[in-house]
Amino acid sequence: MAKFEEYQRRKTSTTHVGDLCIGSDYPIRIQSMANTSTNDIEASVAQTLRVAQAGADLFRFTTQGLREVESLTKIHSLNSKFKIQNSNLPLVADIHFRSDVADAAAAVVEKVRINPGNYANDPATIRERFTHLLAICKEHHTALRIGVNHGSLSKRMMDLYGDTPKGMVESAMEFLRIAVEEDFHDIVLSIKSSNTAVMVETVLLLVDTMDKEDMHFPLHLGVTEAGEGQDGRIKSAVGIGALLAAGIGDTIRVSLSEEPEAEIPVAQALVDYFTNPNSPRYTLPPYSSTPLLPLYIAAEAGYQILVKHEDWSYPQDEQLQNDILQAAGKLRYKIEFVSCPGCGRTMFDLQKTVHDIKEALSAERSFSTKCGLSVKRSFSETVCYPKIAIMGCIVNGPGEMADADYGYVGAGKDRVSLYRRKECVLKNIPQEEAVEKLVELINMDRQLIGETS
Ligand code: SF4
Repeated sequence: MAKFEEYQRRKTSTTHVGDLCIGSDYPIRIQSMANTSTNDIEASVAQTLRVAQAGADLFRFTTQGLREVESLTKIHSLNSKFKIQNSNLPLVADIHFRSDVADAAAAVVEKVRINPGNYANDPATIRERFTHLLAICKEHHTALRIGVNHGSLSKRMMDLYGDTPKGMVESAMEFLRIAVEEDFHDIVLSIKSSNTAVMVETVLLLVDTMDKEDMHFPLHLGVTEAGEGQDGRIKSAVGIGALLAAGIGDTIRVSLSEEPEAEIPVAQALVDYFTNPNSPRYTLPPYSSTPLLPLYIAAEAGYQILVKHEDWSYPQDEQLQNDILQAAGKLRYKIEFVSCPGCGRTMFDLQKTVHDIKEALSAERSFSTKCGLSVKRSFSETVCYPKIAIMGCIVNGPGEMADADYGYVGAGKDRVSLYRRKECVLKNIPQEEAVEKLVELINMDRQLIGETS
């Protein structure tokens, strides 16, 4: 292996999640998240088993309220009984907005994820609530993920730093410092974005900031709203691969708007590529033919473009080259679709909707050849090849679609709201009309721009 840099994993401490250890002394762990309703116990347990059989190490459930904690208790006990391939697959409760729900879930599952952006706003309340949660976690040997997302920072952090890498890192560090003071160490950190450049820059800043404070907690990596199909896989490979190549990452999730078990082989391929000494990275000459070649090329390109900030090209396959450059935010040569993976909060058939929107807009992709190639674009440029976000719920969707040009967001049962950037332009419209209205909205913007340019 001459071309690629040797893989050297960043040294991290060990976090215990039930019987599972996460950290640099252990293999990189693979996780996914349920897209069932957490209150549908039968479907949730069946999905847990499928994901375990596919090879996941951890599985997460959205936990909106105390009713979902009750459901999670049942899922957890059934999951323990089945004891299939990955016996006792540890379960994670995903909590937003409700610290009381985090407290309740911490007594039930192996790990709780909280989002500093919506846990509490003022420092005194954060300290009071978070130390209480840490005490429960200590008592029940429950691990915590402090999971920051681009687009969902607290108002205080936004006022201080804006929605910047620094703001995201400080948001995580505020919680980490309290945990260290309280002598609590079973922590995993994540900072995710649907923008791979933002995600990589922010994780590198977090590692640097932790190093300066002598903290070495394990990191969870993921590109949020990566989408589906080949584009979703390439985008995840660019973002996650960039950091894995730099030795960063102790657990990963490839978020796809597909069934959760479809995420596992992609994640496994990325982990194997970097960490298995028999992988094509180390055994074959670079760019040898294997079925997973696009994934590997994307992962190496992510490192070169987003970590080393070098030019990159792949003349052997121009389309793959353009797809990778677009995934790295260096080119916009076609409409960019971002879509959340869906979870128990999803308000509609996400996979079908993504498909319908892509279909409806497929004829629009060649709208203009003179626009869209610059990433520093004015609004008039972006309407040619806009970034369109398809988000399952109104709770997290509008914030987490971050820098999308248009948003299709589940607003309630069979209801959708449409956004132009951050502005809601059509609220609560029936779902059956929403795809058509979205296309109308984009075309209306294009006509307006056509008339004035
Ligand atoms: S945007 Fe809403 S529905 Fe989609 S994954 Fe996030 S919380 Fe779930």
